[in-house]
Formats: sequence, C-alpha cells, structure tokens
Amino acid sequence: MGVIGLMNSLTCSKRGIYGDQITDEDLCGARIVAMDLHWMFHLRSVEDLAARCKTVNPSLTVIIGGYTAAIFADILVEKFAVDFVILGDAEGSFRPLVERILAGKSWDTVPNLVTKTGKTNQSYSLTAQDFNAIDNLSIDWFPQYKKLVGERNAGIPFVFIPVARGCHHNCEWCYGSRQHQYSLCKRNMVLRDAGYVKNDLVRCSESADIREVSIIADFFELERLKIADQRYIDTILSMRYDIDLYIECYNLPSVSQLERLSGCFARTTAAISFFRDHGQSREWNDHDSIESIARWAGMRDSVRLLIYGDVNNFLIREHARKLSAKYSNVFPADDASWRIVVPYPTADENTNRNQFKYFYGIRNWEKLWGREEAAFSG
Ligand code: SF4
Repeated sequence: MGVIGLMNSLTCSKRGIYGDQITDEDLCGARIVAMDLHWMFHLRSVEDLAARCKTVNPSLTVIIGGYTAAIFADILVEKFAVDFVILGDAEGSFRPLVERILAGKSWDTVPNLVTKTGKTNQSYSLTAQDFNAIDNLSIDWFPQYKKLVGERNAGIPFVFIPVARGCHHNCEWCYGSRQHQYSLCKRNMVLRDAGYVKNDLVRCSESADIREVSIIADFFELERLKIADQRYIDTILSMRYDIDLYIECYNLPSVSQLERLSGCFARTTAAISFFRDHGQSREWNDHDSIESIARWAGMRDSVRLLIYGDVNNFLIREHARKLSAKYSNVFPADDASWRIVVPYPTADENTNRNQFKYFYGIRNWEKLWGREEAAFSG
C-alpha cells in the first residue's frame, strides 16, 4: 500500500514489476531496485531477487523497506545483497535517497537508513501533512497492477485508500497497534484529513481504470473512539461514488451507518467480527446486533457481508456458516491472510536472530510461495 505513494513521490523514470516477472533485461536497464518486505513470508523471494540483481547488474543499488525489513534490518544488510534498509516511515527517506544515489551524492543526511556500514543518525516519522500529500492512486508506471485493479470483481488487488496509519487499539500481535507502531515508527496513529480521503474516492470514481477500493481504517470506529468527529464522516460520505467498496469494521457499526455507507458506493463488501476490537478481544459482540446486520445485508443486492473471527476460528466459522445459510449475501470470511503475523521487535540481538531464522525457515511459507529449498547458516 505504502509502495504506491512512495513511488509516486519520485520524479525520475520508474517502473513497477512483480518480482516473478522481472527479466534480466529489466535489471540491466535499471540503476536502483526497491523492494517491499512488509510481511515476513517473502523473505526468501527478497533474498533471491536481491542476489539476482547484484549478479546480473553489479552496479545496481538495492533498497528494501517495510515492517519485516525494519525489524530485521541489521541482519538483512549483513546476510542479503541489500544496500539500504529503510526503517519505519519511508516517506522522509525514499525520495531523497533515490535522488542522491542517482546524482552520485552522499546519503549520510537521509533519515531512517541502515546500511552495511551503519545507520544514519537522523530520524523521520510520518506527519499528518506528509500523509495528506501522498498520491496513493497514480499507477500508470505499474502496468500489470493497473490491469488487475481495472478488472471489476477482481477482488485483491484493490486500490487502497488510507484513512489512518497505525491503529488506536493495542492488539498484541498486530504491527498496526499503538505500541508496535511507536516502537517502529516513533509516532502515534496518524489520521488523514477527510477532504483528502474524499478526493481520492472522487478520483477513483472518475477513473476508468479503478473499479474497487479498500478503505484502510474504519472511520465509524474512529468516531466511536472520538478520534474523528461526525463532520469527518459527513465529508467522506457526502456523495455517491461509482466504485465498489471493501471495508473492515473493527467493531460493529449500526445498521443505519451501514445503510448510509452502502448508499454511497456501487457495491459494498463489509467485514465484521463476532468478537470486539477487530476480532482480537475475548469479548463477544452482541449476537442480536450481528443478526440484525446479517438480515439487513440479506435484503440488499449491492451488499456483501463477511463475518470473521480470530479467537476461535472453528467455532466462529460454524456460527458464520449458520448465518450464511439463513441470509443471502452473508459469508464466512476466509481469514487466513489475517493470521499472517509479522515478527515482534526485540532489543535482544540473539532473540532477534533466532526469530529471523524461524521465519526464514518456515516450510509452509516456502510451499505457499513456491520455494522448496533454502539454506540459512546463522
Ligand atoms: S488487529 Fe486491528 S484493531 Fe487490533 S491493533 Fe491491529 S488494526 Fe488495530
């Protein structure tokens, strides 16, 4: 999600290519390769691609960023063919770093960098002003992604429209949580101004290429927590957008909130949980309220309701199946991806190295991503 905005901040020529589609010719024609390492499951793909970059074109500079990259930055610059890891929020680092590399200048003053020779001293944390200024939508430079998002009903990949970065909740394993965001990015949750969210929705609505968007962060929840006010929601929901919406509700919205929301989009997919706080609490949501939402969804052709739960998935899926059998447009959510955790940070270097080995060595991830062989000597 952040990669799109970061790439849009560059003024040099650029191209987006999925990792498995990169040719040697592409690598020979590039001066910098930037890779995302947010979730840990593509650790090995990043390792391979970085190594390939240096073999095919030794003059290439390799930059990686993302939460997993930031957590294991020291190990990655030591073990992988990576020149720079960007820590935390990359908005203050990526463009100056790229410009300085291309101009042959020193990068010493660029914040949040880890290299084979050490760390830069300066640090940067995302501000609301910088968050507002990000262009999350221009994707002409990434043709395959643009093609995919243009296909209605394609599901993922959506175009993501951020409302907040970070979360007000503190779920232990989630890197969006207040505590972990602070440890990685040295800041609390950042909220985008509602006008910018609305402008993005208008832009998507008017675009021939974008059919479906995912809003990141539940603004009804932000209102409930008094982080956003009613005007915030009124601004975003002040018109009808000719696009489909996917939204994950952290706690149960009311039927009238959902009615209003779905009235603003061509089709709406809302995900709710049986448990409070994005499914992470042990506290159940009120079952009658869930049933009311399911009943409401069952009567709306343009609405799809997904029900998920992380605490006891077998029990939850059984409950969700019952509701699905009773009401149309209601489905148990496949929450496998939701269970992909990122590793925890730690001040203890040995623990960190053991965690890295553990994530590096998980065979299931290898199968999932088509990798069978890997040897890591710690
Ligand atoms: S799991 Fe959801 S509610 Fe909990 S911290 Fe993460 S984003 Fe926030």
